[in-house]
Amino acid sequence: MTIGGSAFTGDSSWAARGACVTMDPDGFFVQGAEQHAVKAACGACPVRTECLADALDNRVDFGVWGGMTERERRRLLRRHPHVSDWSALLRRAEQQAVGG
Ligand code: SF4
Repeated sequence: MTIGGSAFTGDSSWAARGACVTMDPDGFFVQGAEQHAVKAACGACPVRTECLADALDNRVDFGVWGGMTERERRRLLRRHPHVSDWSALLRRAEQQAVGG
């Protein structure tokens, strides 16, 4: 979701590069099955990781962020209560995925 800042960069510069930047933000706050259709917009988003990290680090309770619904994010947070810095964790995972 293109709202808020990012612990990746300390600012919200990633938000302007989101695939949803020209979309109606209300579309990301739908409920139920509609959320899965909205998530498709995140699939090829160049700032998906930053967006998801921002939502997890800030415990954003509503909407689709980084390709995950609020229910999916809550489940992830419950399963990993020890993670205090999702931005750092996801950045490391991203670097490892590209061989860095
Ligand atoms: S990951 Fe999804 S919600 Fe986040 S900026 Fe990209 S398109 Fe928007």
